[in-house]
Amino acid sequence: MTNPVASASVVGRFAPSPTGRLHFGSLLAALASHCDARSRGGRWLVRIDDLDAARVVPGMDADILRTLEAYGFAWDGEVAYQSRNLVHYEAAFAKLRESAWLYPCGCSRKDLAEAPRAIDGSTLYPGTCREGLPPGKAARAWRFRAEGTVTFDDRIQGRVVEDLPREVGDFVVKRADGVFAYQLAVVIDDALGGVTDVVRGADLLGSTARQIALHRALELPVPRYAHLPVAVDAHGDKLSKQTLARPLEAAEASARIAQALDFLGHAPPAELRGAPPAELLAWAVAHWDIGKVPTIRQYYHPDTL
Ligand code: GLU
Repeated sequence: MTNPVASASVVGRFAPSPTGRLHFGSLLAALASHCDARSRGGRWLVRIDDLDAARVVPGMDADILRTLEAYGFAWDGEVAYQSRNLVHYEAAFAKLRESAWLYPCGCSRKDLAEAPRAIDGSTLYPGTCREGLPPGKAARAWRFRAEGTVTFDDRIQGRVVEDLPREVGDFVVKRADGVFAYQLAVVIDDALGGVTDVVRGADLLGSTARQIALHRALELPVPRYAHLPVAVDAHGDKLSKQTLARPLEAAEASARIAQALDFLGHAPPAELRGAPPAELLAWAVAHWDIGKVPTIRQYYHPDTL
């Protein structure tokens, strides 16, 4: 996994999934990861997270990149695609398997219907297949053995301590349909890009300990993490493509960037509101201080976004 960008001292990234158009929540992640990297003279990468082919909307990657350009963003190097990294996921999977971190699991969704929930709402695996497939069960998915406690200092949210067996349990790295799980893919993608700083929405905070465990098991450097407050709608739900948050339109780039900067604790001066996107971004990079980003969730009605 050598890559020329790995030598840069700070490397950030924005990794949208091409399942819908970018929205206000995506803009927060793009803006904050961009400012965080650029304000320290670092590189900023864009990756299209198109691993789950069934959810990919054809042409959405191009739409996302056009929107980023209209919003004044310029990334380094070529855009990365998860779908081109499969050989690297296979290699990581083989390495984990050889070192006995993985085991095959024969449980179906139905078998796990009664299992308790992990902190992110997924299934807390009861360990049925941990010591070997029970008679009559065939391998479906592959699970990683969750062991020990992961502690990390999130640059925005502070110290996070997660007891892996109790809070998340053995988790899937390769699904029954053969697709690698996001948790494994993102670790490999970030290592391939030489990413030093992951800045993303706090909806992924609950995935971070698992990703750190995988970085360690694969002997890959662990990036620093910063999880942004999540913009929520009037019902308290995260703004996502699924909740139909309004897409980012090119014509309103300046207004929405200013709004995102307000949200991130970096309100631009009045005379800059309405300036071209690139000027707003330059101001944001020059004034970026991650300590000003609020930790709490904030309420934003979608109609105002
Ligand atoms: N592709 C993921 C998403 O759009 C983000 C992955 C990450 O930032 O680690 O939610």
